[in-house]
Amino acid sequence: MKNKKLFTIFGNPVIHSKSPLMHNCFFEKKGLKNCYTRFLLEDGSEIIKKFKELKINGANVTVPHKEWAYKLADEVRGVAKEMGAVNTLVLENAKVVGYNTDGSGFMEVIKEFDYKNPLIIGAGGTARAISYLLKADIVNRSEGRLKFFKEKGFKTYIWNNFEYKNYDLIINTTSAGLKDENLPMPKEMLEKVFKNAKYAVDVVYGRETPFLKMAKEYNLVLRDGLYLLVYQGILAMELFLGEKLNKKEAEKVYFEILT
Ligand code: NDP
Repeated sequence: MKNKKLFTIFGNPVIHSKSPLMHNCFFEKKGLKNCYTRFLLEDGSEIIKKFKELKINGANVTVPHKEWAYKLADEVRGVAKEMGAVNTLVLENAKVVGYNTDGSGFMEVIKEFDYKNPLIIGAGGTARAISYLLKADIVNRSEGRLKFFKEKGFKTYIWNNFEYKNYDLIINTTSAGLKDENLPMPKEMLEKVFKNAKYAVDVVYGRETPFLKMAKEYNLVLRDGLYLLVYQGILAMELFLGEKLNKKEAEKVYFEILT
């Protein structure tokens, strides 16, 4: 048992998560006897207590517990400190250490894009993580969550004061389209936005969202949420294993598993 390590994803809901599948297959390909499971956590305030009770070595954290993980981890490192959100927990010398790989994972998704003016739709946790590394304008359907971005000096809009600029990279970070047929902005607004754009990225995975369906009609280069899932996952795996992975090889393995 000494060399076997246990990992999990904490979330609510968590049944749909593809993280166990992709990480377990990766362990197998690497010849590691580790195991990755999923844990439905209802009360986020118990996240670190559960982590310790389960005697696990690492965990990913998904909606809606990233802020609890940030608040309760024994220590928080790197960009997670600024973001106020943790998506990866690692047991290091008996301490549960929190990191965030969503922002840097997203930068991997768009690394080959040639863009100048990105627009982020949505102002939740994912938008926060992405905007930490990507200077973008932000548009949200309501005012409340924009406060965080305003204080950090971002140009922010709600739908009815939105100013159209030549945005070339459009990123949907809302959950619109996850379980419904909603667009993240009114159709007529998206039509104007897509007209000048080159790229459209969605963070939702598992289905073609109305946002990406519409972007396809404008012949934009598309990336769905699977890309973010893979890249944030590879960066989390590096933290779990405490070693740098060959990114090209890891990408190949993860995409083969998931597509
Ligand atoms: P939050 O709950 O923090 O934020 C949700 C955002 O979506 C808010 O800005 C909210 O607006 C907006 N929103 C929700 N529904 C609609 C709608 N019908 N129309 C317009 N705006 C809407 O969520 P997260 O940022 O944590 O997560 C967002 C999505 O990203 C989830 O679907 C999650 O699964 C996905 N995700 C995927 C990852 C991946 O690996 N692919 C990684 C991380 C997240 P308002 O403020 O007005 O309520």
